[in-house]
Amino acid sequence: MAGVYVHIPFCASRCLYCDFFSTTESAKKESYVDALLQEMLCRKEEMSAAQRVETIYIGGGTPSQLSIDNLKRLFDGIYSIYDVNENAEVTIECNPEDVTASYAAGLTTLPVNRVSMGLQTFDNNRLRFLRRRHTSEKSLESVYLLKEKGYKNISIDLMFGFPEETPQMWSDDIDKALSLGVPHISAYSLMYEEGTPLTRLKDSGKINVVDDETMLSMYTLLINKMEDAGYEHYELSNFCLKGTESRHNMSYWTGKSYIGLGAGAHSYDGVHRRWNITSLDKYIEGVHGGSVYWGSETLSATDHFNEYIMTRLRTKKGIDIDYLHSSESKDIMTKEFERLLDLHLSAGNLVEENGRLRLSRKGLYISDSVMSDLFLIN
Ligand code: SF4
Repeated sequence: MAGVYVHIPFCASRCLYCDFFSTTESAKKESYVDALLQEMLCRKEEMSAAQRVETIYIGGGTPSQLSIDNLKRLFDGIYSIYDVNENAEVTIECNPEDVTASYAAGLTTLPVNRVSMGLQTFDNNRLRFLRRRHTSEKSLESVYLLKEKGYKNISIDLMFGFPEETPQMWSDDIDKALSLGVPHISAYSLMYEEGTPLTRLKDSGKINVVDDETMLSMYTLLINKMEDAGYEHYELSNFCLKGTESRHNMSYWTGKSYIGLGAGAHSYDGVHRRWNITSLDKYIEGVHGGSVYWGSETLSATDHFNEYIMTRLRTKKGIDIDYLHSSESKDIMTKEFERLLDLHLSAGNLVEENGRLRLSRKGLYISDSVMSDLFLIN
């Protein structure tokens, strides 16, 4: 098995743009950790049949809403059930507001060797707009505290494309992020997801959405500045200094199997996808009743092919041309696929290099449409 993902759905408050499964019902943290430990036992066979664990990712929600004691219980469970590689990458997502000196010290008592924080922006007005709990000052302090405790492998998330944001404002945010000297930076455009308060603001005309041209110039600015600073643009939204790419996320993008524990978590064993119920109460009740409520699907050959195209094109490594010539692909590939592939190659959206096909800079700007053109129909 490549990875273990554990979903911690607790948040102190809800952000304006968020459509992740999370809850502010903090009284249930203890019983949720009990349920996670129980789920590991329920799915022990699935786990023991799997390979060595190379990555662990505690995500959310806000994992740093759990006490160090509860996280310790969780890690003790994981390490007692799984065969975890001693060099495993072990990531926890933290909200900067939760990273106090004592919490950072507590993290060092756990197997955690990588911390990921959603800083989003260094502008306090934009942070307030997003309903984030932290301030820009607290972001800087949290990185400082983690570094002081010896954490080198720190990742931060940024957002761009806020209403009224200009490329200059975004440029200032990137400069501040670079000045932190962290090895990994992810940057996402602000998304208007269905059902979020942010989308309601947009639909009621109360905010102005940044136009496509400005978004594109912001993305270009990001890539240029990150590359100039020595970061490798290894995935559409991810940049790292040499050797610090997220091993856990790379395993998703290279089709490795993983097990997802907790409410709303997804698992993949190479053939099937399964997902746990996105309800805290039903998850806890189900697990203690001896079974996890979950749904699943078996991927068809076409699903596999489409996933391969989508995940590999996200990364700098791109598609292995041998895969396209393999018997598995040849049986299902259509003339239309070949036509569109040639079209994107001759238009310069894709480039061929060392037996692989990847998105060019031009192709990065229209990645969604290149990918969807190359999907086969089931
Ligand atoms: S902290 Fe993260 S998971 Fe929680 S509401 Fe905000 S964006 Fe969503």
